[in-house]
Amino acid sequence: MPKKPKINNPWQTALTQFNNVSKLMNLPEDIHQMLKNFSRILTVSVPVRMDNGTIASFEGFRVQHCSARGPYKGGIRYHPELTLEDLKALAMEMTWKCSLTDVPFGGAKGGVVCDPKKLSPGELERITRRYTYAIQPIIGTDMDIPAPDVNTNEQTMAWMMDTYSMNKGFCSPGIVTGKPLNIGGSLGRADATGLGIAYTTASAIRQNKKPLKNQKVVIQGYGNVGSAAGKFLEEMGCRIVAVSNSTGGIYNPGGLSHNTVMAYYRENGSFKHFPRAENITNAELLELPCDILIPAAMGSQITKENAGRIRAKLIVEGANGPTTPEADEILSLKKITIVPDILANAGGVIVSYFEWVQDAQSYFWCKNEVNVKLRMLLERSFNDVYLFAQKNKCSLRTSAMMLAIKKVADAIAVRGLYP
Ligand code: NAD
Repeated sequence: MPKKPKINNPWQTALTQFNNVSKLMNLPEDIHQMLKNFSRILTVSVPVRMDNGTIASFEGFRVQHCSARGPYKGGIRYHPELTLEDLKALAMEMTWKCSLTDVPFGGAKGGVVCDPKKLSPGELERITRRYTYAIQPIIGTDMDIPAPDVNTNEQTMAWMMDTYSMNKGFCSPGIVTGKPLNIGGSLGRADATGLGIAYTTASAIRQNKKPLKNQKVVIQGYGNVGSAAGKFLEEMGCRIVAVSNSTGGIYNPGGLSHNTVMAYYRENGSFKHFPRAENITNAELLELPCDILIPAAMGSQITKENAGRIRAKLIVEGANGPTTPEADEILSLKKITIVPDILANAGGVIVSYFEWVQDAQSYFWCKNEVNVKLRMLLERSFNDVYLFAQKNKCSLRTSAMMLAIKKVADAIAVRGLYP
C-alpha cells in the first residue's frame, strides 16, 4: 500500500530552508540547481530469512547529496515510517553540517524501512548484513562512510564493518564510524552528539550573559543523544526538569536526577510512574515552562500548531529538522533563540570524522584529546555563526546555513565541472 505523505514533510522543510537562504545570499542559479539535487539515490531490496522460516523483503535506501568537499558521510536509520523524503532531507542537512564545522565530508543518509521493536537480534543482524551487501557498490572508506542514527547503534556498525570487510577480503575499520572501541571505534564517540549539544548550549547561554547554573532544561527523546545531553548539562549545573521517549515523559519542576532516571528506565523500560514526577505526553512536554528546550527525538516536532505555545527561551536542536519553517517564523516573533541542528548536533559527525582519521592512521587518541578537539571545533563554529548573525541581523539558522552553503558553493566553483 502506498505510504500516506507525511504532514510537515521533512524534505519540504529542508528544501524551503535551502531555497530561502539561497535567495538571501544570491546563490548563483546553476549552483542552486546542483545543490537542490542529489548525486545519487539508491533503492535496494533487502530480503531476509525471518526466525519463523519465511522470507520478508524490506526496502532500503542510501542517499548521497554532495561530495564537493569530501566523501559522503551520514547515518543509517531503521524506522517503520522511514521514507526516501526523510533521507533526502537528512542527507542535505549533513552536507551543511559538515561544511559549517569544517569536517571534510559531504552529506549522505540511509536506512531500512523496518520496525526494530518487532525484530529479533538475529533478524536485525541479517537485515543489516544484507542491506550492507546491497549498498556496498556505493560505499567505501574514501567514498561514503555510514554511521549510526535512530534505532541503530555500535552493534549495527560492527555488523556493517564485518560484512563489508568479509566481502572485500581485508579488514576495513574505516568503512563505518560509531563502531565498538576494540574494532577501531573512537573514545568519546558514543556521547559526542550529546556533549556537543551541551557545549553549544553553554555557548548560547554565555552570549545571553547568563550562568548555566539552575537553567531549567526540557529534553524530548531521552535516547542516545538526549540522555547524553542531559548528563553533561546536569554536570554543568543545569536542572533537567522533563524528559521523554516515544511513549511519553515525566516532569518535575524541582529537577530530575539523570542517573536515577536512567537506572529507572533500564529497570522498567519506560519513564512512566517514575517517583516524584508527573507523567506527561510528548505534546505537553514541548510546551512546559523552561529556559532551554532540547528536541532530541524525531523531525517536525515543533510546528505551526504548537510553536505559539512554546515557553522555552532557548531551543537547542538535538534532533535533525525538529522545527518546521512556519514554526521558525512564529518562534522568531516570540524572540525565542534557536541553535539550529546543523550546529547543535554536529558533535556526532565531528567525532565520527576523528574516528575515521584515527582508523586511517591506525593510531588512537585519548578521550581528552577527542573532547578538547570537539569543543574547539564547536566553539569556533558557534562563534562564527553568532558573529555572522549579529552582523547580518539574521537568525542563527540563516547564519549557519549561509556560512555552510557558501563553503560548498566555493568548493564546487573551484573544482569546476567535469568533464
Ligand atoms: P535514539 O533512537 O537513541 O533516541 C531517540 C529517542 O527519541 C528515543 O528515546 C525514542 O523513544 C524517542 N522518540 C522517538 N519518537 C519519538 C516521538 N515521536 N516523540 C518523543 N520521543 C520520541 O536516537 P538518537 O541517536 O538519540 O537520535 C535522536 C535524534 O538525533 C534523531 O533526530 C537523529 O537524527 C539525531 N542525531 C543523532 C546523532 C547521533 O549521533 N546518534 C547525531 C546527530 C543527530
